[in-house]
Amino acid sequence: MRKKIVAGNWKMNKTLEEGVKLVEETLQLFTAQPTDNAIMIFCPPFISLEKISLMVDGKSNVFTAAQNCYSEKSGAYTGEVSVSMIKSVGAQYVILGHSERRQYFDETNEMLARKTNLVLEEGLNPIFCVGELLEVREGNKQEELVGKQISEGLFHLSAEELQKVVIAYEPVWAIGTGKVATDEQAQEMHAFIRKILAAKYNAEVANEISILYGGSCKPSNAAGFFSQKDIDGGLIGGASLVATDFVGIINKFQ
Ligand code: PEP
Repeated sequence: MRKKIVAGNWKMNKTLEEGVKLVEETLQLFTAQPTDNAIMIFCPPFISLEKISLMVDGKSNVFTAAQNCYSEKSGAYTGEVSVSMIKSVGAQYVILGHSERRQYFDETNEMLARKTNLVLEEGLNPIFCVGELLEVREGNKQEELVGKQISEGLFHLSAEELQKVVIAYEPVWAIGTGKVATDEQAQEMHAFIRKILAAKYNAEVANEISILYGGSCKPSNAAGFFSQKDIDGGLIGGASLVATDFVGIINKFQ
């Protein structure tokens, strides 16, 4: 059974102190209304990752993720953070290829394929992001683009490796813009992703992969997305910065 996941990507928000407070509040609400069905992942900035990982240590349904990693194992790369460093502070997941990394930091599919390998080599799980910009959607080329992101980023993996990957689909035009994809638009792309995974590997492997929806997901619209058959949870940006909203979203699995 594939996992249901709600991951909160804080992006470049929250100081250490603010982050600790957010996690305390979120855990309190989450524990008050446990959702056996779903796991929660906090994705704080690197600077808070150790502290937040310690706070969730031992909780079977709560984990942490880094928001990025570097594409080399170690060495003279001032300012960068390696996967082994991320692992050493207790995180179990690494977000790769978030649309902001692709857009503002020129991350390519080829670079992301390398990062994916490094994350898997350390025994961590990539949360591999794909998604299209508005002009691609308007040109009806979204499947072509997402197909390319997945084939170039992930198709070199064995079936066993792929099963450790979580995929997140972000319609980039619906991130922080107030625009929202409809449940049907989201489901259509998730079904397409599962279809190409099944074609490359097989249906059984494709069925095991959690595919998260990322794009202005809120407590008010999460139930609609999560009821779609190929949507296994969410990668949440803005709403993960408010404990009641984040837990409100995860509770939509009940
Ligand atoms: C994101 O950037 O992955 C995201 C989903 O952001 P938001 O929820 O703020 O739209």
